[in-house]
Amino acid sequence: MEFIQKKTADRAVEHFLMKAVDQEISTAWDRYEGQLPECGFCEAGLSCRDCLQGPCISHPFRNDTKIGVCGKDKDVMAAQSLLRLVLKGTMAQLDQVSDFVKAVASGEIEIKDKDAADRIVKDINGLLDNGETEAVKALPKVIVEGWEKAGVLPQGVARDIFKATQKMEGGVSGGEEILLWTVKCALLGCAADALGRKLQGAVFGEITPTDVAVNLGVIQKDQPNILIYGPVSPALKKLVIEKAKDNSINVMGVCTDSLLPPYTISPVSNYGSQDIPLMTGAVDLIVAGDQFVNPSLAGVAKDWKVKIVSVNGIKPSGSLSDLADEVVKKAQESFGLRTDVPKDIPDAKTSAVMGHSPQSLDIKKIVDALNAGTIKGIAVFSGSNNVKFTQDNEFTAMAEAFLKKDILCISEGEASVCLAKYGYLTPGEEKECGQGVKGLLGSLGDNVPAVIDCNAVDFMVSLAGIENKALSEYPIAACFAEANRSAEVAKAMAFVSMGVSTYFWPCLPVTGSPKTMGVLTDFCGETFGGRLHVVTARIDAPAKAELFIKAITSPPSMSGKSWQ
Ligand code: SF4
Repeated sequence: MEFIQKKTADRAVEHFLMKAVDQEISTAWDRYEGQLPECGFCEAGLSCRDCLQGPCISHPFRNDTKIGVCGKDKDVMAAQSLLRLVLKGTMAQLDQVSDFVKAVASGEIEIKDKDAADRIVKDINGLLDNGETEAVKALPKVIVEGWEKAGVLPQGVARDIFKATQKMEGGVSGGEEILLWTVKCALLGCAADALGRKLQGAVFGEITPTDVAVNLGVIQKDQPNILIYGPVSPALKKLVIEKAKDNSINVMGVCTDSLLPPYTISPVSNYGSQDIPLMTGAVDLIVAGDQFVNPSLAGVAKDWKVKIVSVNGIKPSGSLSDLADEVVKKAQESFGLRTDVPKDIPDAKTSAVMGHSPQSLDIKKIVDALNAGTIKGIAVFSGSNNVKFTQDNEFTAMAEAFLKKDILCISEGEASVCLAKYGYLTPGEEKECGQGVKGLLGSLGDNVPAVIDCNAVDFMVSLAGIENKALSEYPIAACFAEANRSAEVAKAMAFVSMGVSTYFWPCLPVTGSPKTMGVLTDFCGETFGGRLHVVTARIDAPAKAELFIKAITSPPSMSGKSWQ
């Protein structure tokens, strides 16, 4: 199959893609092209390999292969495909929180507010044990009442995760029931994630809007460079930064949180181009987690003589402090050994403001602007990159369209890193905005860029709390423009269950079952107020932006069956 698509919108990345061709280095884009055409059954959620009688498929046209050996039909297979992703994504969130709680308990890091940290750890343990947590109790009633009615309030790991996993083992649960288990898991992960952020605030200090330098130009030519890949424990990150600072070593990151008060970790690139920083020749050592880290990194690191320290080995490593010492020592050694490697660091660097929160933003002012109609709505960007799209193009094209149409843009995580590369998070950078958004941004402070980096869940909770009004009654929607990992699917389900309709690209593996698609839109809409839109039509980024704008500026009565 002929497949022609521009690989990336990032010119610094493009520079290295040309080099990769010259040097015959395989990239994720090449590997994707090699995989085409991808399996249609897996793509549509019509396959299953949950037991050894399979693998099975549900063929849309052949009667003898419509139903799996055990009796799973297309609706069950599709619903379970979604559940499988959400379970994996939820466990990724729980893993991060549990790592951090352990690090706090180890006494290896200095804790800024010990009483608050103890309280939050107790709350996290309650959540994971039986769901008892102050965090959910403190949420606005309008958010929680739908969860109570549907029976999806988090009830701890054993009740939520263990039971949800068994839905794939057998039983007679239909699509709606499986979907509710999916939501239950997503909410558990979302609550744990929110508590993990609170714990970081107590341990390191609250995050405030901070200047962060972004893109490949942040790599230093004349000193050792460490890159942290993935959501590695913030406790380890802090120790590495402190020890590296004492030794004049530069620490940056890929797919890892940038803010760790009082430090910043500059993102050198984003998910889609995570191999590229190594091709500068200036990276000396990688600290690699698992989530968001491509296995290809090991091969690229070998080609460029870059050492790797993997932090989640099977044998328990020593103390965090010993591990941080090892990282710094290896980075120094590697720097000394790599003097013959040519360096090619592009002059690509932007300055972004990251770390806004409901405390730094006047959310009441935003609600007033919505009520007065001076802004038409709010778009929340989330999620990382996917090789199925021109890297960053969908995000930037949509942000551009939204800002012009007076839609306030909030972004988080990897979506923020992507938009930051193109100046959307740079205060003072000229981006064309409608008069309403322009006026609102100006009134929110001097340091507020065109797109505001703020954790999406914190923003949504605060928005609902201002007038105790359901989020589904606001013109707000979320957009995963180039999504990829299972944690993003879990997050999308949490947004929907909070009442925020969400557009998810690329297609989730549910499209083979019209019934499951209907559950995600109609049933979710009726139960939680938010709908999950999986758009099956192949449309370009401006058309996607139009679809999104139409949905949030139309009366809530529209059917929402965008997949039709
Ligand atoms: S669980 Fe059922 S559908 Fe899945 S592989 Fe086994 S027999 Fe086939």
